[in-house]
Amino acid sequence: QKKELALLKNESTITLDGKRVEVASNIGTPQEAEIVLENGGEGVGLYRTEFLYMERESLPTEEEQFQAYKQVLEKMGNKPVVVRTLDIGGDKQLPYLSLPEEMNPFLGFRAIRLCLEEQEIFRIQLRALLRASSFGNLKIMFPMIATLEEFLEAKQILLEEKSSLQEQGVTVSNSIEIGIMVEIPSTAILADQFAREVDFFSIGTNDLIQYTMAADRMNERVSYLYQPYNPAILRLVKMVIDAAHANGKWAGMCGEMAGDPIAIPLLLGLGLDEFSMSAPSMLKARRQINQLSQSDMVNLANQALSMQTSEQVKQFVKETVEIQ
Ligand code: PEP
Ligand code: MG
Repeated sequence: QKKELALLKNESTITLDGKRVEVASNIGTPQEAEIVLENGGEGVGLYRTEFLYMERESLPTEEEQFQAYKQVLEKMGNKPVVVRTLDIGGDKQLPYLSLPEEMNPFLGFRAIRLCLEEQEIFRIQLRALLRASSFGNLKIMFPMIATLEEFLEAKQILLEEKSSLQEQGVTVSNSIEIGIMVEIPSTAILADQFAREVDFFSIGTNDLIQYTMAADRMNERVSYLYQPYNPAILRLVKMVIDAAHANGKWAGMCGEMAGDPIAIPLLLGLGLDEFSMSAPSMLKARRQINQLSQSDMVNLANQALSMQTSEQVKQFVKETVEIQ
């Protein structure tokens, strides 16, 4: 079986009826780029940059970050690399950034909220990214975007840093796509508004599910509410994908759901363009997608969207599609 999967390493991901999608990987360190390629990845769909900042005494310098980003971009060649700007705060604390304790860290001062306030930290990261951009196919995305103003402000800061680097004679790519993670329900609901401003969406279901269901993703007691197949989640995902396509943009997913064999047929039917998952899941996902018909999955997804419960959707997918 392993051998059979290995044969798919250099193949593209394309359904029986010819719909092409991208299978990419999530990474946390530059070294993992190698593993992505070994597992047939068509790109990096989420580079979580938090690890650069963790387990150390002070902020990483612009130069250190530049080296890390450049390494990933060079390794991936012309394959896309989506880098997420710092998603720290809340449960992920940094010893050298003394942030006040919060009652609800998951609803608190974190990610883009922190970056827009502690702008120097943000600007250093953006400069490092912009400098690295000429070494590969970079796309930048902002985490935990809840309002359009946040996105526009973050983009403005990015453009300011770009101009200032260019004035200094630094080469910066002119084709960097700028997108957002959709992991807060308000953003999924206003996806049609966001879709005019962003270059792409990446749906972060790990958080989108927790915020939609109001169920802490780490709390065992409420894990029964953590329901990727709940029609409420599927409808939000559909809104995001439809809004992207109506505006000529693409939509990916980088939450755990993107690599789940039960979710994949539904996501394919909803029109998802990019599936980003852990490296070891990629070849299996490609094999599964290559054996499905997209038009059949559109029917599957449409029926799922009108079901009442997560359990009904799950059973329906299992009955309709062979899950290996
Ligand atoms: C997500 O929320 O789905 C996501 C990919 O981000 P993280 O798991 O890092 O919060
Ligand atoms: Mg998240």
